[in-house]
Amino acid sequence: MASLDRIRTDGFRRWYERQLIDCHAWLVSWFLGLIVLVSGIEVAGGGAGSRSSGALLALGGLAVTWYSWKRYHLLLEIAERLGEQAVCPKCEAYGKFKVLSSGPAPLPDGGDPSLENHGGGLWLHVECRKCGGEWTLK
Ligand SMILES: [Zn+2]
Repeated sequence: MASLDRIRTDGFRRWYERQLIDCHAWLVSWFLGLIVLVSGIEVAGGGAGSRSSGALLALGGLAVTWYSWKRYHLLLEIAERLGEQAVCPKCEAYGKFKVLSSGPAPLPDGGDPSLENHGGGLWLHVECRKCGGEWTLK
């Protein structure tokens, strides 16, 4: 997962780009999960011997589809929300800021509790690299 700490280290634009790549990779895995799900249903209808293996395949596909859709939606939602607020209120420069402070703090394993919680409670206090203006993304 693209950690919010990458905004601080790589800059917002790179983080945003990476976030969109990650979330579309989840969309691809959602689609592959859908193919497995439909294949499982097809196999399950083949006969008595293939019923249990088809059902297992369909369940696996369903799990991948469900989880992938959830991750895709979550990552896209956070990227869009922060992307909408990444414009400097003074000079209107997009994504050209450095993070002064942020919260809540990332987990030791690099995961973000705020990302896991649909971005709830997430905030970044930033300073524009162009004009020095400060604002908060939440
Ligand atoms: Zn500015």
